[in-house]
Amino acid sequence: MSVEINKLNFFYGKSHTLKNISFQVEKGEFIGIVGPNGSGKTTLLKIIDRLLKYESGIISINGRDLYSYSLRELARTISFVPQTSHLTFDFTAYEIALMGRNPHIGKFEVETKEDYEIIQKIFELTNCIELANRNFNDLSGGEQQKIIFSRALVQEPEILLLDEPTTHLDIYNQIEYMELLKKFQNDGLTIIMVVHDLNLAAQYCDRLILMSEGSIYSMGSIEEVLTEDNIKEVFNIDVITHKSYITDSIHIVPYLKFIKETHPVRIHIICGGGSGAKILHLFKNFKVSVGVLNAADSDYEVAKLYDYQIITEKPFSPISNESYEEILRVLEDVRYIIFCNFPIGIGNLRNLECLLDLEKEIIIYEETDIDLRDFTNGKAKKMYEELKKHPNVRVFNEINEIFKFIKSEINKEV
Ligand code: ADP
Repeated sequence: MSVEINKLNFFYGKSHTLKNISFQVEKGEFIGIVGPNGSGKTTLLKIIDRLLKYESGIISINGRDLYSYSLRELARTISFVPQTSHLTFDFTAYEIALMGRNPHIGKFEVETKEDYEIIQKIFELTNCIELANRNFNDLSGGEQQKIIFSRALVQEPEILLLDEPTTHLDIYNQIEYMELLKKFQNDGLTIIMVVHDLNLAAQYCDRLILMSEGSIYSMGSIEEVLTEDNIKEVFNIDVITHKSYITDSIHIVPYLKFIKETHPVRIHIICGGGSGAKILHLFKNFKVSVGVLNAADSDYEVAKLYDYQIITEKPFSPISNESYEEILRVLEDVRYIIFCNFPIGIGNLRNLECLLDLEKEIIIYEETDIDLRDFTNGKAKKMYEELKKHPNVRVFNEINEIFKFIKSEINKEV
């Protein structure tokens, strides 16, 4: 085990800042520590780097007690990239990086060719060659972060502790930084990183520790830790989590629930695959119900964002009898039904079927010919054309026209 922490307690004066912290990190793991401001993340890293002394508990590094190491030995084992570096002396970026070699250079020795070669190699990897001769204090926050990171790597540690290392970096440099960490992880480096960006954590870390008020609130795989409930409880924010189609990692979208002045007219929107997004947004001040929608559908996420009533089907499952009965019940009470422009297959055909015997105002939003959206060998087309003949059905080709129409109808009544 690379790092083993058992029942760690730490106080700042009388304030019990870390409470009974226990966890283990294996060699070559990439652990993310997440949690709100003030939850104790930085303190925890400082304790592992022996910058702060804990009151009780045990910390072992590679099976040995943290305090059995000499400081030089520890510096060859652990390096720490703090949030900010307050260096008061004028050093060049190169000189700062060179400091990282100190633990490897004997008391009466000087730097060797090998030390310089290591710095050269690291500076190439971190894209810092051009900064080498610049004065550290004159560098931007992001550039300084890269130099401090380089110094930590030059130290050739077994364990790297990072505290919010990417805060000052632009999006390109952030990803480059994370990719570089991954590369070092693949070479055997153990990484423990405090990170605010939950999506970055989800994309790069193997496991997460979620801290809250000095304790570990949750620990485990990304899926186990970054649940909507955990995030709501610890960060007090509503989020939607879903798997990114591109990276296959969990993606988190935060949102503030809309406090809406709801118009009493009830509208039901039948959509799917993103066909409803704009319409769902336009009617945000109405009493809206949506469905039947699969829980994995992108329209489902939008509907949830607006806190609409959703008739939900399990991901990738066809509309079940229960959902079909539910939609029939919901439709009884609505004033308008909007049928969006989405592909129709056997799985969602019942979203069309449910409208055939209804005497409700139905608005069809038609953007693409039904022939191109029918994946039922003509069944959907037949139903759709039958539906269009109903006297209570109106077809629109412009989303804004639908909104204008409903608004004007309602205004006429007032
Ligand atoms: P995080 O990194 O999660 O934002 P910190 O570890 O920095 O949290 O801080 C944890 C708690 O300890 C906070 O309440 C913070 O105000 C307090 N704290 C941090 N540093 C000190 C200090 N030097 N003296 C007293 N309290 C501190």
